[in-house]
Amino acid sequence: MDVPLKKVAVIGGGLAGLTAANKLTEAGIHVTLFEAAPQLGGRARALTWKGQRLDNGQHILLGAYHATLNLIASIGIDANSALLRLPLTLNMHGAFRLNAKRLPAPLHLLFGLLSTEDLSWTERFAAIRFFIWLKAKRFKLSIDEPLLNLLVRKQQPTRLIKWLWEPLCLAALNTPIETASAQIYLNVLKDSFNQSKTDSDLLLPKLDLSKLLSEPLANRIRSQGGNIELNKAIESIQQSEGNFHLTSANQESFEFNHVIVATSPHHVKALLERLDTPKEITQFEYQPIYTVYIQYPSHIKLPNVMTGFTQGIAQWAFDRGQLCEQHGLVAVIISAAGSHQKLTQEMLVKAIIDELSIAFPQLPTPEWSKVIAEKRATFACTAGLSHPKQKTNVQNLYLAGDYTEGNYPATIEGAIRSGLSAAQLVMQS
Ligand SMILES: Cc1cc2nc3c(=O)[nH]c(=O)nc-3n(C[C@H](O)[C@H](O)[C@H](O)COP(=O)(O)OP(=O)(O)OC[C@H]3O[C@@H](n4cnc5c(N)ncnc54)[C@H](O)[C@@H]3O)c2cc1C
Repeated sequence: MDVPLKKVAVIGGGLAGLTAANKLTEAGIHVTLFEAAPQLGGRARALTWKGQRLDNGQHILLGAYHATLNLIASIGIDANSALLRLPLTLNMHGAFRLNAKRLPAPLHLLFGLLSTEDLSWTERFAAIRFFIWLKAKRFKLSIDEPLLNLLVRKQQPTRLIKWLWEPLCLAALNTPIETASAQIYLNVLKDSFNQSKTDSDLLLPKLDLSKLLSEPLANRIRSQGGNIELNKAIESIQQSEGNFHLTSANQESFEFNHVIVATSPHHVKALLERLDTPKEITQFEYQPIYTVYIQYPSHIKLPNVMTGFTQGIAQWAFDRGQLCEQHGLVAVIISAAGSHQKLTQEMLVKAIIDELSIAFPQLPTPEWSKVIAEKRATFACTAGLSHPKQKTNVQNLYLAGDYTEGNYPATIEGAIRSGLSAAQLVMQS
C-alpha cells in the first residue's frame, strides 16, 4: 500500500513556525506556512518608522543560543558580521561594572566578580559562594521556587540582588524577580556560565531582526519548494478521516495530513476548539516589554553600546549608532510589568529622556521618539509553571512556540528549538 505523501500546514510565521517549515522543506516535505500578519517574524520583526528600520523590540542573544547560531549559519548569514559579540560585560550605570575576562568558564565569571571593585568584598564573596553552591547542585533545584526566595535563602545581599541578579532576571525571563522561576533562571545561568567561555557572550543584532532571521528563512523555504501565505489567518482546524481541514478568516479551506500550530499561546485555544485537545494546555499569563526609541542628533554617541540602569524606569539603553549605524538613535528597554504602564506615551517618553539626561548630561533635546509596547511580549515565566507537550493527543497535530515544553524562558532560542523538534516529530511520524 502506498504511504500518503506528507502534506504539512504550519500555522504561524514567527521563528518557531519558520524554523519548522525550513527544516521540513529541507527534507523535501511539502509545506504551506500560513501567517495572519502581512509580514513574517511574529514577536521578532522589523518595522519602518520615519524612514528607519526599527525592531519591535531590541533583542539580545547569548553565545549559548546554539540552535539560533546554527540556524543563522545555515541560512547563509555570517554571524560574525551580523552580530556584535561582546564578552560578558555589564555596565550598570551609577552602580557597577562587571567585565568577565576571556578565561575558561566559569573562571571568567568568578574573575569578573572578584575584580568588580564597585561591589564590596562581602557582596563579591556572596555571589561566588552562590555560584559554587549552584555548581555543586548542578544548577538543579529539588522544587522550583520564586527566584527572590532562593536568593534571600542563599543570603545574597540586597545590593547584589538589585544590581546583578534582578537585571539578569528581567533580561532573561522578562518576569519580576518576586515571581520568576528560579529553576528556569538557573537553566539560563548554567548554559551561559558553566560550559564554554563564549556561551556568556552577549550577541547584539547589527541587522534588523527581519533581515537577520525571518527574511532569509522565508527565502530559503521558498527556494526549497515551500509555500508561504501572508495575510492568511487560520480560524479553525477540523479533522475527518485522518485529514485536517483548515478554514481561513476569509472562508477559504485547505486540506493537510499534518499540522504544526506555531502561533503564540493566546491564539492556540481558539484554533484547537473543534479538536479533542485539553482546553487548559495554553493558559498562560503574559508580561510586556516596552521599547522607547529616542532619536538624538546624529553626532551623539553613548559611552557604551549597552548600558544598564538600576534605578528609575529605564532598564537598558542601546546605542543603535554603534550597533547598526543608526547614529544618534537610542533604544531603551523596559521589561516586565511596572508603574511605567500607568503613564501615557508622552509621559513615558519624558521620563526616559529625563533619566537619560541625568545619566549622560551632554545629551541635547531629541528630534523624535517612538514607543513600541508589546503587551504580550512573553509568557510570565513563573515558578512551577508547566508547559504543553509538542506532541498533542491528536495524531499528526503538533505545537511549536517559545511556550512549549523545554527548559527555557520565552526566547528566540526557545522558539527555534521548538520549531526544530516539531519538524522532527513530523518527520518521524
Ligand atoms: C519586545 C520584545 C523583546 C524581546 N526580547 C528578546 C530578547 O532579547 N531575546 C530573546 O531571545 N527573545 C526576546 N523576545 C522573545 C522572542 O521574540 C520570542 O520568544 C519569539 O520571537 C517567539 O517566537 P514564536 O514563533 O514562538 O511566536 P511568535 O513570534 O508570536 O509567532 C507566532 C506567529 O503566529 C501568527 N499567528 C497567530 N495566530 C495566527 C493564525 N490564526 N493564523 C496564522 N498565523 C497566526 C502571529 O501573527 C505570529 O507571527 C522578545 C520579545 C519581544 C516582543
